[in-house]
Amino acid sequence: MTAPLLSVEGLRIETTGRKPAALIEDVSFTLARGETLALVGESGAGKSLSAMALLGLLPADAIRVTGGRIVLGGEDITHAAPRRLRQIRGGAAAMIFQDPLSCLNPVLTVGRQIMESLKLHKGLTGAAARARAIELLELVRIPEAAKRLDEYPHRLSGGMRQRVMIAIALAGEPGLLLADEPTTALDVTISAQIMTLLDQLRADIGLAILLITHDLPAVRMIADRVAVMYSGRIVETGGADAIFAAPAHPYTRGLLSARPQGAMAAGAPRLTEIPGTVPQPSDRPSGCAFRPRCPAATALCAAERPAVRPLGDGRVACHHAGTAIIQGAA
Ligand code: SF4
Repeated sequence: MTAPLLSVEGLRIETTGRKPAALIEDVSFTLARGETLALVGESGAGKSLSAMALLGLLPADAIRVTGGRIVLGGEDITHAAPRRLRQIRGGAAAMIFQDPLSCLNPVLTVGRQIMESLKLHKGLTGAAARARAIELLELVRIPEAAKRLDEYPHRLSGGMRQRVMIAIALAGEPGLLLADEPTTALDVTISAQIMTLLDQLRADIGLAILLITHDLPAVRMIADRVAVMYSGRIVETGGADAIFAAPAHPYTRGLLSARPQGAMAAGAPRLTEIPGTVPQPSDRPSGCAFRPRCPAATALCAAERPAVRPLGDGRVACHHAGTAIIQGAA
């Protein structure tokens, strides 16, 4: 079996200071070339923090990695030097964010911004950089690419701006693309187009994509595997088809029933929401962190934190996953 492009093992992230709080605990996953893994969960679950740690973007004075390993392309980059991390960002790994307008420079043309990235990561300048910039815009399916090169970001639609951001991210020919809520600022149709584009890039150039999102329809469209995060831990992982068809963890079940398709499949008369909110890291309950919101919680859930264990083809952290207790609580 070939080694995965990215391997995260037992990642732990804590706040600094006299009373450190664990923001992320025991987060593990792998990602192969040509594969899309979706990291899903509500705000505060720790999804973006996990991604920022991969690229060394944590604010070192406030938050730091205190355990585990991040291996990218065979290189342990967990505590890589800032200079090495700068080389990796935009080189072996690149990231796109939810708001392309705030990431693009409004006073520089689209072409200039792509060419700057090409100069930085590939040493390309002049006509060669311009030709490659046109190729990149064509790769992200922007029509009349040569013409668009000379336009400013404000002249483009939200979907086009996100395509430009993806083109800039691809300038360094990364193997790994981290997409942090890439469609949050877009309407449903454009969001679906961006997801389709990401999936085409995955297939065409073998990108490994880590999709961080709470947009479950987007996950359904393109993810091969799903990792569900809750309060700093991964509580369920598995193939996307299996998780959408038969979620094992009560939190995953709650997330899926809170979307229209999930409620319809369950025969529910209306959408069901998960009561309460994700606890603050310093205020997690004993045992299972999901316990105060879980319809299947028992005394065991308060007494012991559930370990991650294999279930079917996936893994789940719940004492009662796969039992009649969960079925009865649905
Ligand atoms: S361990 Fe208990 S509280 Fe936690 S998700 Fe499972 S049933 Fe619910």
